[in-house]
Amino acid sequence: MHSFPRPRETHLHVERRALPGPCPACGAPELAAYRVLGEGGWWDVEKCRSCLHSVRRVPVPVLGAFRPLGSGS
Ligand SMILES: [Zn+2]
Repeated sequence: MHSFPRPRETHLHVERRALPGPCPACGAPELAAYRVLGEGGWWDVEKCRSCLHSVRRVPVPVLGAFRPLGSGS
């Protein structure tokens, strides 16, 4: 049995949380926080949606939100 129901949406996307303030690189008020899969695995990033400048980039656990039983915490 699956733990999660089949999605009803035809396309899935990551929610992007808008952040206050201008981009330090281009000045556009387009900063957003979201999770991306890139080189080295998953990252929580804060990026400018206009010029893609990274303000912050923090690695997240290898399995993302999934925590296997017995892996602690
Ligand atoms: Zn920018």
